[in-house]
Amino acid sequence: MAVPRNRHSNARKNSKRAHHAKKAKNVSDCENCGKPRLSHNMCAFCGRYDDQAVISEDKE
Ligand SMILES: [Zn+2]
Repeated sequence: MAVPRNRHSNARKNSKRAHHAKKAKNVSDCENCGKPRLSHNMCAFCGRYDDQAVISEDKE
């Protein structure tokens, strides 16, 4: 494992971590059922993505 030769200051450590904050998830409404769903993800309520049935409803 690499060993640091010089100590980084607290300001340098904190400025590095300035970009580490979590961002809010991108949520849009489903075109089929209108419920909120994550972008580029299948709708959890109707099981559709890009107007295609990913999970068929009549499957048991
Ligand atoms: Zn939906």
